[in-house]
Amino acid sequence: MAFQCMRDSYMKEFVTSVVSCSPAELKLDSTNGKKEKVKGFNVILKDTILFPEGGGQPDDRGTIEDVEVLRVLRQGAEAVHFTSSALEEGREVQLKVDWKRRFDHMQQHSGQHLITALADAMFGYKTTSWELGRQRSSIELDTASVKPGEMEALEDTVNDRIRAHVPVNVRLLSIDDPDVEKVRSRGLPDDHAGPVRIVDIEGVDANMCCGTHVSNLSHLQVIKILGTEKGKKNKTNLIFIAGNRVLKYADECYNAEKSLTALLKTGPDEHIDAVDKLQKTVKRLQKSNLTILRDMAVLIAQNFKSQPEKDNFFSLHNKDGDNEFMNIIANEIGFQETVIFLTVGDPKGAGMFLLAGPENLITDLGPRVVEMLQGKGAGKNGRFQGKANSLAKRAEVEALLLEHSRKRTAGEE
Ligand SMILES: [Zn+2]
Repeated sequence: MAFQCMRDSYMKEFVTSVVSCSPAELKLDSTNGKKEKVKGFNVILKDTILFPEGGGQPDDRGTIEDVEVLRVLRQGAEAVHFTSSALEEGREVQLKVDWKRRFDHMQQHSGQHLITALADAMFGYKTTSWELGRQRSSIELDTASVKPGEMEALEDTVNDRIRAHVPVNVRLLSIDDPDVEKVRSRGLPDDHAGPVRIVDIEGVDANMCCGTHVSNLSHLQVIKILGTEKGKKNKTNLIFIAGNRVLKYADECYNAEKSLTALLKTGPDEHIDAVDKLQKTVKRLQKSNLTILRDMAVLIAQNFKSQPEKDNFFSLHNKDGDNEFMNIIANEIGFQETVIFLTVGDPKGAGMFLLAGPENLITDLGPRVVEMLQGKGAGKNGRFQGKANSLAKRAEVEALLLEHSRKRTAGEE
């Protein structure tokens, strides 16, 4: 199992021929994050520069004669290219690899080999697995914790090796070569065929791997170890980015910093303090706002009760109120005799409501009110409350309630 991309990982275009092409279906990630079943074709080529998934490295993207390759998967010794349209068997075709994606994977993968080797050599931390992520990659180290300063020292040495432009060579050994035993590995796959492929970072590391790698550590440009996180039991995850991802990350950080400077009106050194202060202020204001709202509810109720000539009907809308605000008013006024209709929220949109009054009247009118407010609600003992999807018919509800409460006062109900 060796493809052209493994013999020459820097080849961007390649001419080969179609061995077979058959209709197929594949589950692909769609833009909304869900898996989507897509119809297409499984294409096997005589040889390929599109790397199929393996060794922790994701598969390549690219084109076969301008037909897009959506996935490349390993099936035994073959690489299966999933394409959107069919390709004629036996035909000679031009292959192109999405080089930006591939080179990014090469930088992260070779970066992982380098970090893994040095973490072991310097601190005895063995790598148990790794993941090449879309934004950042992580290496699972077989240790419950790392000591202060170790990651900084590791990052220094890693970048020192990159500056030393150490060559990276691929060697093929026959399976019975005694050198194979010396090479660190996580075992050969069951369907392994042919010679063993060794990726050799001169004087640093030799490791069995099927991935595509840079030919010299200088092609990694730089590695940033962002930090460590607690992993599975007794493991630590080391988070890193390599090469162009470091530049991209610096660019994103700088743009975020610029936006924050404009928003917070302070320099980057004071951003954290400024946000902290802002959060505390918001919390304090929310608390005092709540207190004011409660006091206001009491005053609203008292004001209504002190009117000498009042209807047995009270209605109020408050944009910022909540359930407690409505309940305080209802309790304070009392609803044995008075019909109370309270709403909070967007006057043209969604909100909450509370309807209270003489029990038989509320049991009767509650469901009708809910319907007019396109809401959901429940209640007992003369109190009916819930959510309203639209407060647009608020005035109509008010008219209905006023009519019934007047009838009731006049002894008609
Ligand atoms: Zn590898």
